[in-house]
Amino acid sequence: GPDPRLAKIASSIRVIPDFPKPGIMFQDITTLLLDPEAFKDTIDLFVERYREKNISVVAGVEARGFIFGPPIALAIGAKFVPMRKPNKLPGEVISEEYSLEYGTDTMEMHVGAVQPGDRALVVDDLIATGGTLCAAIKLLERVGANVVECACMIELPELKGRDRLGNKPLFVLVSSD
Ligand code: AMP
Repeated sequence: GPDPRLAKIASSIRVIPDFPKPGIMFQDITTLLLDPEAFKDTIDLFVERYREKNISVVAGVEARGFIFGPPIALAIGAKFVPMRKPNKLPGEVISEEYSLEYGTDTMEMHVGAVQPGDRALVVDDLIATGGTLCAAIKLLERVGANVVECACMIELPELKGRDRLGNKPLFVLVSSD
């Protein structure tokens, strides 16, 4: 059966309707962070999956990938690389534009942070359409990394973001319809 920790994790995520705009069911992970046991179980589940996979870099997507990525990276002995919104990183960057529901956004990564042959895990809190994770994968692959898997706490399966990742594996803890 399913891991008994998952039910507690799922119930610690708060859903706020119509945020940030009407029709969006916002999955709020800040309530999970208030429950040290649920937060620890979340990190442990990812660490148990990735500790023997020779991951050399955890790439965390701004902003909530910065909450879950670093404790996973420390526990598995990988470096952590932030994937940021434009004009936040001070060094030389490469950029990838991606589409949103309305318009586009850009993701940036420091040049030199990831090397050819690095084995990467991409971490974010949630996959909706998959556009964000796709941009992160492209940045990592452009510098020669091997993206082993993407990991999120929550998947919104109706939006079929998983299909957009092609054959790239996606691991999630909770599915929300
Ligand atoms: P997407 O690129 O469409 O897969 O959107 C994923 C990104 O948008 C992630 O960084 C999420 O944190 C955020 N996001 C999208 N939809 C939601 C939602 N319903 N609740 C919380 N965050 C969301």
